[in-house]
Amino acid sequence: MKEVSRFPAPVGDLGWFSTATNKDHSFADSSVMEADYDFIVVGAGFAGVNAASRLAENRPGAKIALFEALQVGMGDSGRNAGFMIDVPHVTVGDPKVDLEHHRWRFRLNTIVINRMRELKNKHNLQIDWRESGKFLAAREKRFLPALDNLARFLDAIDTESKVFERAELAGKLGTEYYIRALFTPGTVLINPAEVVRGLASVLPQNVHVFETTPVLQVLDGPTPSVRLVNGKTVRSGKIILTVSAFANHFGIPQAGRLYGINSFGAFTRKLSDEELTTFGNVEPWGCTAAHPAGTTVRYTASRRIFVRNGLSFSTHQCTSPERVHRARNKLRKAFVSRFPKLEHVNFEYVYGGMIPLTFNTQSLFGEVGRNVFAGTVGDGLGLTRSSMLGLYLADLVCGIDSEELRYLAKTNAPSWCPPEPFLTMGANLRLAWDEFQAGGEI
Ligand SMILES: Cc1cc2nc3c(=O)[nH]c(=O)nc-3n(C[C@H](O)[C@H](O)[C@H](O)COP(=O)(O)OP(=O)(O)OC[C@H]3O[C@@H](n4cnc5c(N)ncnc54)[C@H](O)[C@@H]3O)c2cc1C
Repeated sequence: MKEVSRFPAPVGDLGWFSTATNKDHSFADSSVMEADYDFIVVGAGFAGVNAASRLAENRPGAKIALFEALQVGMGDSGRNAGFMIDVPHVTVGDPKVDLEHHRWRFRLNTIVINRMRELKNKHNLQIDWRESGKFLAAREKRFLPALDNLARFLDAIDTESKVFERAELAGKLGTEYYIRALFTPGTVLINPAEVVRGLASVLPQNVHVFETTPVLQVLDGPTPSVRLVNGKTVRSGKIILTVSAFANHFGIPQAGRLYGINSFGAFTRKLSDEELTTFGNVEPWGCTAAHPAGTTVRYTASRRIFVRNGLSFSTHQCTSPERVHRARNKLRKAFVSRFPKLEHVNFEYVYGGMIPLTFNTQSLFGEVGRNVFAGTVGDGLGLTRSSMLGLYLADLVCGIDSEELRYLAKTNAPSWCPPEPFLTMGANLRLAWDEFQAGGEI
């Protein structure tokens, strides 16, 4: 496989990481790094941390190394909106839904959320993890039929949901912006940087976590190895690559089917007691939009408003400070239109990240070179889906069979992407059209 030419970098002020209580946790020192490991995992996002955790459980005597280019929690796993979603991601009102497939998705999502909850409880991790559920809310009347369709779909796959109308909703959210929402109780709202870092901090002793240790190259073969940017080569029995759309830069053949969409997040400063009174003293909540290109909003446990919006194609799988700067106006507009009484409240953190996607939303999952395996999600439900891929990749490399693994293996085949420059041009036109269609949901 080729040398990596592009590495992840923090872009903007990473609000979740900066406010994480465990940001100063120390992981392994490079002096303990060995020349050989039984397993190496590259990339410590939700996929990588779950892979390492399950490997350690499957093989308690094995030596495992987890390499991360940034600090754990600074990658996209710590830059998202923090919705750990259990219900399948269905384009609202999509008539072509396959119910059996979505029942599976729900089951797998639930398995991984339960597992992370158990780890949190077992280790008494003090992390921002709230069983709040989520609202999927509409501002415009034209999206109400889509909400009704979604409620029927959730009912058909036996998952709970509840409709909230404008007045009751305003009492829950502290804003009268939305006219109706569909509430699903199983989503967990987290500080994703704190949670992924917390889970990495309680990995068993036989896992060495090396953060700020970028991998330059993965070499497949009978004894695969990784070359680090610092010049060291580390050998392994098997390697798991959980680097999201950065897989493109490692030269794995299937990676051309992955791409990334940039999206942006912003946090206000902490609201004062007085501001909270005007806002309604509500409990922390999270709200996604009735249109996929709409704005995601949270009122966080740290008394801030968080907004996420903006979609642009990421030709080189990276985000730039210019894009973050350009995204600010749209984020600000979304915040002020929902909370006009808080217009004077500034943003303290604004940042950009990348949502990994595939054309048919199927994940990349499986062996991509001799003794090298990779897992990357194909839709916006990355936290649960990447965690799931990590878990079952660990089972795959250990030869542990299950119904879930077989299901994942047969439903993970990302489809072909058009070549550049058609991909970037087509994707940007499509994203601009989606944002236009989303109207007031942005
Ligand atoms: C603004 C925004 C909001 C989002 N909101 C949500 C949400 O609310 N819910 C949800 O489910 N999903 C959300 N997502 C998507 C979600 O963040 C991703 O799908 C998820 O992070 C994928 O997890 P992962 O572990 O596969 O990859 P990542 O989190 O990208 O982890 C891969 C890791 O690999 C590391 N890496 C890359 N190259 C190298 C190298 N050469 N050497 C060593 N390490 C390397 C990276 O630094 C990174 O930490 C959002 C994304 C964005 C950008």
